[in-house]
Amino acid sequence: MQNLFRLLPSVDKFLQAFATHKELAWISQPMQREKINQFLDLCRQEIRDQVITDPEELAWEKLVTRAASFVCSQSRPHFRRVLNGTGVVVHTNLGRSILADSAVEAVSDACRYYSNLEFNLATGKRGIRYAHVEDLLCRLTGAEAALVVNNNAAAVLLILDTWAKGREAIVSRGELVEIGGSFRIPEVMAKSGAILKEVGATNRTHVRDYENAINENTAVLMRVHTSNYRIIGFHKAVSQEELVALGHKHDLPVIEDMGSGNLFDFSAYGMMPEPTVQQTVAAGLDVISFSGDKLLGGPQAGIIVGRKKYIDPIKTNQLNRALRIDKMTLAALEATLRLYLDPELARTHVPTLSMITADASFLKAKAQRMKQRLKRRFSDRLDLTLVPSVSRVGGGAFPEQDLATTLVGIKGRDWSADELKNAFLATNPPLVGRIEDDWFCLDPRTLDSRHMGLVIEALQEAFEGLGKDGLKDKEYKK
Ligand SMILES: *Cc1c(COP(=O)(O)O)cnc(C)c1O
Repeated sequence: MQNLFRLLPSVDKFLQAFATHKELAWISQPMQREKINQFLDLCRQEIRDQVITDPEELAWEKLVTRAASFVCSQSRPHFRRVLNGTGVVVHTNLGRSILADSAVEAVSDACRYYSNLEFNLATGKRGIRYAHVEDLLCRLTGAEAALVVNNNAAAVLLILDTWAKGREAIVSRGELVEIGGSFRIPEVMAKSGAILKEVGATNRTHVRDYENAINENTAVLMRVHTSNYRIIGFHKAVSQEELVALGHKHDLPVIEDMGSGNLFDFSAYGMMPEPTVQQTVAAGLDVISFSGDKLLGGPQAGIIVGRKKYIDPIKTNQLNRALRIDKMTLAALEATLRLYLDPELARTHVPTLSMITADASFLKAKAQRMKQRLKRRFSDRLDLTLVPSVSRVGGGAFPEQDLATTLVGIKGRDWSADELKNAFLATNPPLVGRIEDDWFCLDPRTLDSRHMGLVIEALQEAFEGLGKDGLKDKEYKK
């Protein structure tokens, strides 16, 4: 055993060898040193445990390869891509929307080069950040003016801070929602300094409830899209048109937090009716806010559109400076919005839209192909099946909408569904799926066919119970 210990090379010898290794070039020297030491500790442990007994296993060529993949896998960035096999398209925990290719390129250019972010190329003088998207947003929604901030929560805060600080905002009790991730309408309102005036009952609110609540301290009438839940049964909400009529009668701005805020009409794809931003603008709402990365399928952003006389003071609010959007977001948003100028182009090129509108027979054929490929590779270790099921839109949108799909169900002969699930979380990239009736399931809706190779590699990796560094799984995870 002592002789085996003596065969272990020095840290410096590894460092020297890694100096010309292209995958390791981006890992700092101190980090490499730390990981090599950990690797050597593991080797010593394997010698003590008599996992390594043959000096051949400590041959330099063998060891340096193992050490390199150990250092690589242990120095991976914390923030990484994952494969989404859940079928939830706007998966908040997995980064909501993924971007269209043209948006990705726009972000890359915005980062790599100087830009006209706040520079007017016609005059050679200072320009306005929002100019890049304001016209597009107006054209797409029919609104008079627009601006964009960090996210929709920021948009709601900024709108209320501008129009209702220290005064009353009237909201229906049925709309005081909480959105996942700690966004609660009453709390955001409190932060803005607006005084929440609740009206109606949880299930029913009438126009007269709003009207009776209006007084000299009323600043706005507010609607909130109850994105993530539905009241069914004995239920009454005031329509956009009714509220607009009331607001305008009393010269009060009527604002709406639309949540997802889709520019695309999904009803042609057999989905439940959801008002589009265009329809909401046409209904006469004065200020409307929505997210950039939910149904729109763009980057994280809070988009505010509406009548110029109400939008202008929002633009000049000092708070706006603290909530402003960055150049990468702006680049991605403009590229995404440009696709919407042709709705069919948007549907085929904005991944969120193409995944939501993917039809059941297409998904079934895709699932069959996935199953075949997996079967060819893993039939000795895996049972595979197709499971008719449903996917979800996610992001609090269309909460009750079932999207028909076909899942590929996987059962390992020696693995429980939970063990499979955990093994896939440790692969590179990790593969996130869902468990249905003891099958670990992958939904083809959110898995790009071009990434099937990666799914197969992930399966291979998980099934071997080995990390790519060749260390046994339990050691790998320590
Ligand atoms: C999602 C949502 C928000 C928060 O939007 P972010 O862009 O995540 O800040 C606010 N209001 C409603 C109704 C929502 O659905």
